[in-house]
Amino acid sequence: METTKCLIIGSGPAGYTAAIYTARAGIANILLEGLQPGGQLTTTTTIENFPGFPDGIEGFQLMEQMKAQAIRVGADVRPGYVKAIDLTVRPFVATLDGGAQIQAHTVIIATGASARYLGLDDEKRYAGQGVSACATCDGFFYRKQAVAVVGGGDTACEEASYLSNLCSDVYMLVRKDYLRASAAMQQRVAERDNIHILYNTVAEGLFGEGGVEGVHLVTNKGRDDEHRHDIAVKGFFLAIGHQPNTGFLDGQIALDEQGYIAAGIDTATNVPGVFAAGDVADPHYRQAIAAAGSGCRAALEVERFLARQ
Ligand code: NDP
Repeated sequence: METTKCLIIGSGPAGYTAAIYTARAGIANILLEGLQPGGQLTTTTTIENFPGFPDGIEGFQLMEQMKAQAIRVGADVRPGYVKAIDLTVRPFVATLDGGAQIQAHTVIIATGASARYLGLDDEKRYAGQGVSACATCDGFFYRKQAVAVVGGGDTACEEASYLSNLCSDVYMLVRKDYLRASAAMQQRVAERDNIHILYNTVAEGLFGEGGVEGVHLVTNKGRDDEHRHDIAVKGFFLAIGHQPNTGFLDGQIALDEQGYIAAGIDTATNVPGVFAAGDVADPHYRQAIAAAGSGCRAALEVERFLARQ
């Protein structure tokens, strides 16, 4: 079985930064790219808040550049994802999708987080037929048509702004009577005439023959003026947050009450030698630069851990 000093699981900013730092420290590493090589940033448009790019940079390009940098300094970047991992043995043993196994003296978990869904049966029924959690991936299919975006955070505003350039109308379905998004993002939404914010409104179901044709809505649910109504849309975009990708850990790593990996500022988990970086351990900041920073910290802690052995 192949053995590495450091197995890095995930290829977002946290994973690549960890790979760059460990490789430059002379620590043999393997980075497994996972199901979505490059992570969440590959599905966004221009990133204007990652320092070093005065004109902004496309998310996909930023991740390609991180990958190229990691490879150039000696990281072993590979496709594949970890199906299961045994953290009760030393070295740890990771089992990959194809069945191959890798032994690792240390592990950096940088598996990020995935989009959340409302849990409606119709979301599954219309999967790939109007339901999406990525406007930049799928918005193109709804050019000049009306769409709905669920959520009132920064992601929802960003997705709505993006879709407003392509679609005839964008309905934001916000369950409260205010947006949670930052003032800057709210301003961006307010500037678009074709974005309509429906406050106190939740989606109860979807309808349509062979694809989404509309959403069943409830406004002011539980109040005297509660009312049900439908809107006609072809696309239904979820932007209600993310859940950390921890399923493969099978309960071996302590999580916090929200399901994120419980890791301190030093990225250490409850298992010595296992570190967590990026969104999988960050319910608060969830920014590319914050993920990169924690990837750096994880790599430095790996170096210290190995030196102590
Ligand atoms: P948030 O958790 O900030 O917002 C989620 C939104 O979805 C909220 O409006 C929430 O409503 C709503 N929501 C959650 N569950 C449901 C549900 N079951 N039904 C209806 N609505 C629901 O997530 P984001 O993904 O928007 O942002 C995550 C983090 O990433 C934030 O820190 C954000 O600032 C950051 N971010 C920054 C960006 C930027 O700076 N350019 C871009 C994108 C994200 P409620 O308010 O009622 O809870």
